[in-house]
Amino acid sequence: MDRILSKTLNKAELQSLVDLLGAEQVIVNPVELITYERDATLHAGQPAAVVLARHSQDVQRAVRWASERRLPVVARGAGTGLSGGAVAERGGLIIEIQRMDRIVELDRAGRSAVVEPGLLNLKLDEAVKKVGLYFPPDPASGRSTTLGGNIGENSGGPHCFKYGVTTNYITGLEVVLADGQLVRLGGRALDYPEYDFLALLTGSEGTLGIVTQASVRLLRNPPGVRTLMAAFDAVETAGEAVSAIIARGLVPATLEMMDQSMMRIIEDYLHVGLPVDAQAALIIEVDGYPESLGGQMEEVMEVLRQYTQRPMRIAATAEERDQLWYARKSAFGAMARLAPAYLVLDGTVPRSKLGPTLGAVNQACAALGLRVANVFHAGDGNLHPLILIDDLNDQALLERIHQAGRKVMELCVNQGGSITGEHGIGIEKREYMPLMFNADELAAQLEIKEVFDPDGLMNPGKIFPEQVPTDRPAHAAPGAPPTASPYAPTNEAEAAAALRAWLGAGQTVRIRGAGTKSQLLTDGHQVLDTRALSGVRRVDLDDLYVTAGAGTPLVELQAELARHGMWVPLVSPWPVATLGGIAAANFNAPLRMRYGGLRDLILAARVVLPDGRLIRAGRPVVKNVAGYDLPKLFVGAYGSLGLLSELSFKLMPLPRARASLVVPVEDVRRGLDWGARLLQVCFCASALLLCRGCPGLPAAPYALIYTAEGIPEDVAAELAQARRVLEAAGAGQPAETPEISGSQVWADWFSAVMPHPGNGQTASYVLRLGVPPGQVATLLTGADVAPDGGTWCADLASGHVYLQADRDPASLRRAAEGLGGYAFLLAAPDLPAEALRAWRYAPSSQALMRRLKARWDPAGRLNPDAPVSG
Ligand SMILES: Cc1cc2nc3c(=O)[nH]c(=O)nc-3n(C[C@H](O)[C@H](O)[C@H](O)COP(=O)(O)OP(=O)(O)OC[C@H]3O[C@@H](n4cnc5c(N)ncnc54)[C@H](O)[C@@H]3O)c2cc1C
Repeated sequence: MDRILSKTLNKAELQSLVDLLGAEQVIVNPVELITYERDATLHAGQPAAVVLARHSQDVQRAVRWASERRLPVVARGAGTGLSGGAVAERGGLIIEIQRMDRIVELDRAGRSAVVEPGLLNLKLDEAVKKVGLYFPPDPASGRSTTLGGNIGENSGGPHCFKYGVTTNYITGLEVVLADGQLVRLGGRALDYPEYDFLALLTGSEGTLGIVTQASVRLLRNPPGVRTLMAAFDAVETAGEAVSAIIARGLVPATLEMMDQSMMRIIEDYLHVGLPVDAQAALIIEVDGYPESLGGQMEEVMEVLRQYTQRPMRIAATAEERDQLWYARKSAFGAMARLAPAYLVLDGTVPRSKLGPTLGAVNQACAALGLRVANVFHAGDGNLHPLILIDDLNDQALLERIHQAGRKVMELCVNQGGSITGEHGIGIEKREYMPLMFNADELAAQLEIKEVFDPDGLMNPGKIFPEQVPTDRPAHAAPGAPPTASPYAPTNEAEAAAALRAWLGAGQTVRIRGAGTKSQLLTDGHQVLDTRALSGVRRVDLDDLYVTAGAGTPLVELQAELARHGMWVPLVSPWPVATLGGIAAANFNAPLRMRYGGLRDLILAARVVLPDGRLIRAGRPVVKNVAGYDLPKLFVGAYGSLGLLSELSFKLMPLPRARASLVVPVEDVRRGLDWGARLLQVCFCASALLLCRGCPGLPAAPYALIYTAEGIPEDVAAELAQARRVLEAAGAGQPAETPEISGSQVWADWFSAVMPHPGNGQTASYVLRLGVPPGQVATLLTGADVAPDGGTWCADLASGHVYLQADRDPASLRRAAEGLGGYAFLLAAPDLPAEALRAWRYAPSSQALMRRLKARWDPAGRLNPDAPVSG
């Protein structure tokens, strides 16, 4: 890719931009342009012009204008970024999206919103809170940052420990690509059968395209919160207390830490009564029903008492809680009073390594004579050392700060973490990328960049180092192909060699796990069986992750984890199903509403690309925004982009309680109405289903199932609330049972309707329809939909309807697509390949998918029949 260099535009060229967009939307005056030279870092660059976009079309026109002139384009939100992402280092055009700030739609019933990228994070949260909903990603800068910037950086915040980061809440994006084309990725439904480019765009720092609209999912606002501050005699002890809380199986909403230096700085500024004589303090928040808060807090305090004798401060009022958070969120502002500038570092380590890493960070800074204070998201292992810069012209000081920055990054990487948890790479850390990624891993990311932006015009110079290392591991010439097919390699080197040999010899290869979800794939290919790539390789209870071979059956993993009171919240209908197969098919049970889908649970993966390159994607830490989010790209790609050989998942404590309400339903419309009312209650719910003909349920035509799980008090309170809602709606007294769970009902339904592996054909069609969750009722009662025609299981919270039909359900497909969703065929009678292909979903990103597939598998020989492929 050519290096795009700064280009000065002549008057006529600038005038053509003004003519295109209007003088009120274009800034060319050099004095006014100074405002746009920096973000919140020390990096600077002068744009040739700034476009103040109001609509997607403005962005398209401006991008086309720049592309015709081969000019760099830099997207800019509020310019609060901490890695230089919004700086026009190589000149060109800045497209500022702050005026695109509307909430286009707020779907209370379906718990989602469609927003423009210039909307401020806090404005969205305030608006949705008014209707009882919650947008969890909460960067400390949320008051002034745009959602476009949050998406660009995949921002996180204090509540991400429990609730996840921005990417976990984005279901759809509208994006302007480098050539001015507008594509839609995902949408308002979940799990579209397309490559997960949403994941690539989120956190891509404007290097792949400019986001002009986003669909976000929302949660119920927690019914109650309680906040506590605890002080400690040593930072290490505070870190140990964090690990102990997690090891106890507790999941507080936040686990934030400040060291003494930081507390003193904030206290001097705000006078809020921070424990400044202690070495460290934790702000811990628990949320849930009022009935559970006291117990949760007591349990947290019981753990803390083993690590500190100091008194603990529980916020007695909402004002006091706000004050504690105000103190935490003012950390950066308080630092700014002490010196003309400061540098915020950002890295993550597995959280059990916090104490030693912090000690090493402080030592390194002291050795370099630097003043440092620390504030960080302890639950996520996300460090933020802040180093004061007393004199911006002191080159020797700046050099020492640079050395400290590098040292901290090395410490994080050496501990198995990441060079950035939430601030991105931008300009600031591009030279550190080789610390985390080898040449093959960097090359794979650059290839994605080229697929999206062949001329390298989108935010050039960001993320990737100036010099990409070329010391790529030597790849031997393809050896002899395996003599047997199916071939079951026992390690990833064997798998890589087999793929290279088969594909290199012009043969087509099908990757197969247990074969439960690939029954529509035809035979006649070489088969690479993943089941010998198995075994649970690491269960890390301190850092809450598990790593296992992709061929490991889910049941085997869960059995191992259960011995430790843990699980990965996944359910499969088939005991033999492998982790790799479940991930490649993105097969999500209803419990995804409580815990997130597969894409949210996978932290890292090892992947063999079709040319045999072995790459490590992601890290086993909950926050990591270094480079593109590759693990998610392979989720739902049905093996068409590469072979998943190993996966690392987030661990969660097994729920202490689980129970379900089961309601017999005579009339589908009433069932849907009750379901819609119940969706508003869901806080610790793990399933909300309406079924027809599901095994093991009451003999009524339909059944509504509401499952809640977690802390016993929360489960009891939620089911009581759900019961009140049902009674008020005329549903009578529902039965409550611990025996049934919604996800198990779903799994049993699948076992009953799907042919078993190797068992051949089915006489009927089995499909998943995905629509925006608020539209399930419209789908199931629509004029040309026959809900009485077969057996089905509707996951109301996820907007998924699983259906068995005897005839080609083409009308259902049209209905789902008409609602902005899709239909995805899982099993069918013996159909010709052409008919099967006709069922494939055609996303707006299809051309991009094809380009990526062609880049990595030019002859299309890997999983050629994959139902999701380029
Ligand atoms: C005091 C302070 C506290 C902070 N606290 C946090 C924190 O707790 N957590 C956290 O994660 N971050 C934090 N940050 C960093 C920063 O606020 C976030 O990265 C934020 O998301 C940036 O938003 P912005 O609107 O300012 O984006 P900008 O800085 O304008 O842009 C950031 C990046 O996103 C790209 N971008 C912007 N808009 C778009 C778009 N529409 N499409 C594609 N790309 C786009 C830009 O090109 C750039 O690469 C903090 C910063 C400050 C100054």
